[in-house]
Order: sequence, then structure tokens, then C-alpha cells
Amino acid sequence: MNTTIIGYPRIGNLRELKFASEKYFKGEINAKELNETAKNIRLYNLKLQKESGLNFIPSNDFSFYDNVLDTAFLLNAIPERYTALGLSSLDTYFAAARGYQGENGDVKALAMKKWYNTNYHYMVPEIEDNADIRLTGTKPFDLFSEALENNINTRPVITGAYTFLKLARFTGTKTVTDFTESVAKAYISILDKFASLGAKWVQFDEPSLVKDMTASDITLFVSLYEKILASKKDVKVLIQTYFGDIRDCYKDICSLNLDGIGLDFIEGKETLKLIKANGFPKDKILFAGLVNGKNIWRNNYENTLNIINEIKKYTENIVLNTSCSLLHVPCTLKNEEKLDESYKKHFTYAEEKLTELNELKNITDSKEPLNETSFINNKKLHAETRTGGNQEIRNKVAALTEKDFVRLPEFAEREKIQKERFKLPLFPSTTIGSFPQTADVKSARTALRKGSLNINDYEKLIENKIAECIALQEELGLDVLVHGEFERNDMVEYFGECLEGYIFTEKAWVQSYGTRCVKPPVVWGDIKRAKPMTVRWSTYAQSLTDKPVKGMLTGPVTILNWSFPREDISLKESVFQIALAIREEVLDLEANGISIIQVDEAALREKLPLRKSDWKEDYLDFAIPAFRYIHSGVKPETQIHTHMCYSEFADIIKDIDNMDADVITFEASRSDLAILDVLKENNFRTEVGPGVYDIHSPRVPSKEEIKDALNKMISLVKKDKLWVNPDCGLKTRGNTETIKSLKNLVEAAKEIRYENSRTI
Ligand code: GLN
Ligand code: ZN
Repeated sequence: MNTTIIGYPRIGNLRELKFASEKYFKGEINAKELNETAKNIRLYNLKLQKESGLNFIPSNDFSFYDNVLDTAFLLNAIPERYTALGLSSLDTYFAAARGYQGENGDVKALAMKKWYNTNYHYMVPEIEDNADIRLTGTKPFDLFSEALENNINTRPVITGAYTFLKLARFTGTKTVTDFTESVAKAYISILDKFASLGAKWVQFDEPSLVKDMTASDITLFVSLYEKILASKKDVKVLIQTYFGDIRDCYKDICSLNLDGIGLDFIEGKETLKLIKANGFPKDKILFAGLVNGKNIWRNNYENTLNIINEIKKYTENIVLNTSCSLLHVPCTLKNEEKLDESYKKHFTYAEEKLTELNELKNITDSKEPLNETSFINNKKLHAETRTGGNQEIRNKVAALTEKDFVRLPEFAEREKIQKERFKLPLFPSTTIGSFPQTADVKSARTALRKGSLNINDYEKLIENKIAECIALQEELGLDVLVHGEFERNDMVEYFGECLEGYIFTEKAWVQSYGTRCVKPPVVWGDIKRAKPMTVRWSTYAQSLTDKPVKGMLTGPVTILNWSFPREDISLKESVFQIALAIREEVLDLEANGISIIQVDEAALREKLPLRKSDWKEDYLDFAIPAFRYIHSGVKPETQIHTHMCYSEFADIIKDIDNMDADVITFEASRSDLAILDVLKENNFRTEVGPGVYDIHSPRVPSKEEIKDALNKMISLVKKDKLWVNPDCGLKTRGNTETIKSLKNLVEAAKEIRYENSRTI
């Protein structure tokens, strides 16, 4: 049996690509140096995959920022505002990814969205009416040739035509159908070009096929591929799906003139059922995603073998595969020096998953699979009792009832009480929580970890930072302050460290967007709040000012969604265990005089099942109550805020309102404030702070621009419900741009307040 993977992480074992890119952005290295780092990573990854025994190796899984953006550039779908800058092609690409402000102009970045149900983000391609879609890029071909020079005939990976069109935003009057012809032609050219280069296979990634598909979606998919495959010659084509099953188009995909179909057996609830019901075409190879590309728990070989045996009843043409790209797991366990072997032996990162694939291959090829050493060892490992569990916590979760999820008095009454208490001006200004994590804070934390700085000195430094931050906010004139989150490396890891049941990795970085990586902690056992987590920092900050300082916590759903979750208990059980802990912290903050508490649910939408039919039962039915539970015990005069990254919640707007927070802030600036109409239509009750500028880019918004955004907001949101804030935390930004931006924000809020105070 052959093996392959869908893609490999490209940030480098020690995030070399991130650091090189950031240096490039700052002008510290040139394009040639950046390209060298990139090439070294690619060649290292190729060699690793080859030596692991993998049979088919992908290429073009590398990207400087994002593969969807790469595809847009490959197909010449580049908005004019970027090409008009007259920059080099690499800098035009980065301008689309990050925005550009400099000698050549001032443009915003493309919108960025979550990649299906992951914490990775892609850049949303914009297709303008005058877009001239055709093959113009060379990257996939260059990378194929580069690998070939190193004696590896790779399988290039490209975002598929259907997924590309489904993800794109059409900015003019034209729609998908106006571009199917040209897109199909471009893909034909891609296949032709690969044929001429000597490629044997090409992989088109089509994750959009796992979503609910309408009849016209299916028509679009089929017609695209009928066109693309019609002139297929020597190159074999694989359509690769992941993040679920393809129940809506399984029969259609089977009848296409394809050579391979990639299916996900991990997240695809119905994948096996589809094969059992419909069979699998004899003329095609099944790329069977059986090694989890999203989680780090070691594969259970016995279970996998059972599935393989089931599949074999329908087809013998199987290539063992990962369930999705390994982009979503860290690179290698090799650098985890501090993690005890008793933990490590349960984990596999990308590199170790290559070994798993190889072992599984040997087991399936063996005459006596059950006697293979790797099989026996794996079985032993899975038979171990991994964690003892905490009965007290389990009982508490089991005892929760409906009334635990209800905060009284109800919203409208609380709103009155809180207006009376805080006496905030119209359009109160605030920030989302974090302030720039400058080099001094980061190096102090490193020094603390290495033992060269003692805890007292470290805490002193954090206090100084908090004091500076409070002073700055007072000077700027913000209305509701924050302490700045300097004590946190990350909004999830920090809490994980304070919770029993979590364990931590040292180098398990996973790309989130562009150069930004996260290091998700691991839910190892039952969760318990071991100690107060934020109380000392919040109370210290509050002691320095008369203005309210928001207590700042991360919500249970986000904590879980940004961790590697357990697989031995349900997500629901884990979420409630975390909710128990966060609720204790909320009550502790309140008891210590904190009057406003923000509980971030940045990632609430992230794990929403991709199919609508699964939303309620598989997710919202526990995610929303978990949030309600964390604040149902606070006093009416305590104001609960929540924050969400991205405003992509039009379709769950009622559920968001139903979280029953007093205020919600969210990203809106990148999506042209489209969410505001939805808020209005739905009579959204919660007070709102739609972000007035995009913090994901270093660009400083002008006062006028912020006023424009606010005026638009005022036309759709009730004035006494509107807050003024950036769209996310400021921790990745520098001080200079932050101060300039916030100055403009406060000024804009003041002017709008003045202009509106006469009319209210
Ligand atoms: N409070 C967090 C911060 O300001 C929220 C971050 C986020 O939403 N990703 O950094
Ligand atoms: Zn955010």
C-alpha cells in the first residue's frame, strides 16, 4: 500500500519562515535572503518526507502567506489596487496579504477568513468585473521543478477550481457563472504545463465539497471538472477533500474522469457509509485520510486497520493519507525537550505522522499484521490508563441544570442599571484588551523561563507595563480601560497554564495566518481552576484609575477550540469543565471590585460544524449554554462584555444575542460593515462595538476614515448601543502605530459624539 500526505507545514521547525518574513517586512533582509530561507525549508521538508518512506510527496504546499492567495495570483485574480502600486511581484503579493502604506500608495489588505473549521486563515480572493482570469503565475511550476532537481517527482497541490470560486468575493456585477469558462481554461493550462514538466499527478484541493451543496453548486462543480478533465492527457488528477464527508456530490465525483479521489475518514462522519452504499469506482485510486491531520494524539492502529479492512471490501486501490494537510499540527516532537516522555509517547506532530503512515503501511502489507512490533506497541499504548480524572468536576458538570444558564434580571433591566452605574458618554471608547507586546515584555518572559530573571522582578516589570498602559489610555481619553494583557503570551495558553488538566508544549507552533503562529496547549485530563488567574493584574490596574478597567478572560469555547482537545471524552464535556473554571474566575474578579468583565469568545464560530444540519446538536446546544453559565452568577450591575474575531456570524446571529452578554465587540472593518444590516434586521439586543479599524495590518487609519465608519454604523445601530473600538487586540502591533491609531479613534469618537449629542 502506498502512502502520502495532503501537505506539510511550511513555517519551519523553529518558525524560520516567520522570522525571515518579518525581517523582510522591516527591510532588514532582502527578497533574495527571504527566498533562501524559504527554499531551505522546502528542501528540508522534501528530504524528510522522502526519508520517511512516503511514496507520494506533495509540492506547492509551501506559501509565503496563504495558498488561496497564491492561487489568486496564479490565476491573475489580483485586484487593480495592488497591481497599481507598481511593486515587485513579491511585494504586490504581500500588499494584498497585509495592506500597504508607503511611497507607492495606501491600500487595505484583502479580507481574511477562517479556513473552514480550523484556526488557519485564508485571504479572500476578490474578483472584479474586469478580472482577466488566466494562468499567469509560475510558483507551482517553479516549486515542482525545484523538487525535481532534487530527484523528487512531486504531486503539486493547488486549490481546486470549485473551492476557489466558492471562496472568492465578486466585487462587481459579475458572478461565478461569468468566470467558470476562464477559470476552467486556466486549470487546463495548469495541467498542460505540468504535463510538459513531467509531473505524474496533480492534486486539486476541494474542501468546499464537504459543505452543504445546492443543486447549482453541484452543477458548477461538475461542469468545471468536465471542462478541465476533457483535455486531460498524461497527468493524473486527484481531487482531494477534507474536513468532512462529501455526501452531496459523492456520486457526481465518482463519475468524473478523475484518477484519484481523496476522502476524509476522520472528520467525515459519513465517508465510510457513502462507500458502503455506493461502492468506489474501479478506475480510481482512493486516497484514504486515516491519520488525523488536525490533532496530535497518536493514531490507534487497531481502529485504523479495521477501517482499512472495511474499505478493502470495496476497493483495493488505496493510498494511505492524512485526513487534511499537516499544516494544522506542529512540525516535530524533536524539539520538545521539556515535555516528559510519558506525555510525548501519546503524541505525533507532522514529522511523527510520517512515521505513523509508514508503520501503518508496513502493518497493512504484512502477512501477519497483528504480530508486527509497531502494532503490538501501539495497542499497548492505547490500553494504558492515560489520566486518572477528577470525579468532583465530573459530578459538577453532570449536575448542571437549565437554571444555571440563566442570568437575572433580564437584559433590558440590566442595561438600565448599568447605564446608571457607569454613566459612560455616548459612543464609549474602549479597546479589545491587549496592548503591544513589545520586545522588553517578551524577553523578560524568556528570561523568566530560562531562570535568569526571578519572578519578583518579572512581576514588577508587568506591573510597570500595566501602569504605563493605564496612563497612556487616560492620556488618550479612552472611556473603558484595559490592563493590556502583558502577563500573557497567548490568550489561551495563559489560561491553560493556570488550569489543572492542561499540559504545554515548547515548540508546537501552528500557523494561524501569515507569519502569525499559535502554540495550542493540550487538554490532557479533567480541567480545574487551580488558582486565581487574572485577579491580581486586574485589581492592580483598577487601583491606578477611576475609570473602569475591564477584567479580561478567555471563554470556554475559545479555550477549547484553540487547544488540542481530548479525544476520549466529548467536546461538550470538556467545554463545561472549562466553563466551571472560568465562572469561578468571573465571580472572583467581581468580588474583588472589577465592574466590567470581558470574556473573549474569539473562536466561537470556528468549530461550528460545516454542515448546517449539524450546527445545533453538535455544537450550539452546548457552546452557547457554556457561555451563559460563566456569567449567570454575576450581579446585575456588573457588565459582561464578549469579543469575537470576525463578524461572520450573520447565520447564527440569534445564538450570539442569546449568549446574553451586555456588550459584544467584533471585527467589521475588513468586511465592509456588512454585518450591521444583519444586526438591524434581527433587532440585535446586545450593545455592540463593531471594530472601526483593522488591527491585522500596521496601517494607521485616519480620523476621517473612522468617522466614516462610525457614521455608517450610526445609521444602522441604535446610538445608545454603539461602542467605539478597534476590531481586535493590539498585541501584535507596534507602539507607534497603536498610539497614532487610538488617538484618531478617540478623536473620531469625540467628534461623532459632539455631532450627535444635539440630536439625541
Ligand atoms: N483580549 C484579546 C486581546 O485583546 C482578544 C484577542 C483575540 O480576539 N484574538 O488580545
Ligand atoms: Zn479578536
